[in-house]
Amino acid sequence: MTNPKGSVLFIDTVHPFLQDALTQHGFTCVDAYELSKEDIMQQWSNHAGIVIRSRFKIDSAFLEAASGLKFIARAGAGMENIDVASAQSKAVACIHAPEGNRNAVAEQALGMLLMLKNHLLRADREVRDGVWLREENRGTELEGKTIGIIGFGNTGSSFARKLQGFDMNILTYDPYVSIDKNSFPNVKQVSLSEIFEQCDILSLHVPLTEETRAMVDGDFLSKFKKAISLINTSRGKVVDTAALVEAMKSGKVTGAALDVIEYESVSFENLDASKMAEPLRYLINSDRTVLSPHIAGWTHESHLKISVVLAEKIIKLFP
Ligand code: NAD
Repeated sequence: MTNPKGSVLFIDTVHPFLQDALTQHGFTCVDAYELSKEDIMQQWSNHAGIVIRSRFKIDSAFLEAASGLKFIARAGAGMENIDVASAQSKAVACIHAPEGNRNAVAEQALGMLLMLKNHLLRADREVRDGVWLREENRGTELEGKTIGIIGFGNTGSSFARKLQGFDMNILTYDPYVSIDKNSFPNVKQVSLSEIFEQCDILSLHVPLTEETRAMVDGDFLSKFKKAISLINTSRGKVVDTAALVEAMKSGKVTGAALDVIEYESVSFENLDASKMAEPLRYLINSDRTVLSPHIAGWTHESHLKISVVLAEKIIKLFP
């Protein structure tokens, strides 16, 4: 270790590549997987960095206790468990690794969409139960259909790339980016009203912000001209689940594929049982839903890629 750069506290486990790369670069890596937030704050000793997935929130009180902190690295995509404004006011760099799991999310979104459109979950269960229904499980093709992708960042654009082979009309609404036509010749950037007007399928790829929290509510869903399928691999709280259920009951939403659910815990590690609300029960009992436990970005490959991306970003910031 010729160039000691200080210590990095690992609050969550990540792929060992990150610790190896940081150690080689002159950092000392310290495991704090078992320590509570309060213990970490009390025992804090001038760490240069922390690495966290989603075990707890890095709020202003934590940042106040974290003297000497230079960076927070979130092993995943999305920063809503970090008070980024407060960190930046203390000159603490905040980085995350959306490049590491965007392909994983895109592949799962595609898989969930195909499951929905071909009733694969229901059909599989029926065959296992000795039920052989063909007409009732007749599928709907993607070819020629219009999909709206809300949010055209890492996961939205990666999903669009996969869909380019399906001969669909791909629309996207993202007021904060301008799409490179050379990279995405088949993607049309449109207004939200065009999304409402044209889409058969809607897929959400936005971060959770004050603007996107419960963005998909009753009013939003009522604006679609056609009945739609909904895919959400972003954050559960982007969708008002009760409104989604109402829209499923009315036929406005014909099917929903949800990797993320409004009632997940902040750490994403469990569903809050006290919030086993009626809307969630409806989704669980419906044969028009595909549900998964926040695993879209959670592949063997993304496990490594997230650590590689974070190592590159940290080393670039602290050469
Ligand atoms: P990203 O930051 O690369 O892209 C998000 C895009 O949304 C940006 O282009 C931004 O301009 C756009 N956007 C922001 N507000 C918007 C709004 N109101 N309307 C339309 N567009 C808006 O993020 P990403 O990597 O694509 O991931 C998106 C979110 O998905 C993450 O923030 C995270 O919450 C979630 N995610 C979930 C998983 C999973 O395992 N399910 C994995 C990765 C990411």
